[in-house]
Amino acid sequence: MAQEWNIKPRARVCHICGDGFQRDGECVSALFATMDGSYERRDYCPGCWDKRPAGEEPFSQWQSTIAAAPAASKDEPIRRETAETLLRRLVELDDPANVNVIYILAVMLERKRQLVERAAKPRPEGGILRVYEHKASGDTFLIVDPQLRLDAIGEVQKQVVELLGQDGRQPGA
Ligand SMILES: [Zn+2]
Repeated sequence: MAQEWNIKPRARVCHICGDGFQRDGECVSALFATMDGSYERRDYCPGCWDKRPAGEEPFSQWQSTIAAAPAASKDEPIRRETAETLLRRLVELDDPANVNVIYILAVMLERKRQLVERAAKPRPEGGILRVYEHKASGDTFLIVDPQLRLDAIGEVQKQVVELLGQDGRQPGA
């Protein structure tokens, strides 16, 4: 059901012509609503985007430049939990209990310019579905904005800080 909890990587090749995307090249990405209420991501070269079959209305679309692949983090031998690794882990867990924490993490990464918001649409069941793209990898995150009240945001931020600060230690009794 909660299919919005999803990370959708950019395809390696164009959906129509099958050409591989090149570094520094342009790519048009789009999300299409599927019959089961989730979203399918497709990536196109700009020329092919205009050639796609008529009648395909995307949920959202955006154009981006293919960034260089992120460098392997060899200066970080110990795998530390970062806002990004935590976000990926929680999104994959797909637990509705994490909706607030996930949203705050996405906002944090947007402020750090690691994520870019590509689209936002109100959901019939409440909240706003926001589409974020990871600048370096092109991965798309579908994130529900629970429209937290201002006075609730501080509490969630505290949770996020605790989650990021755990470092494998057990919380004290
Ligand atoms: Zn193409």
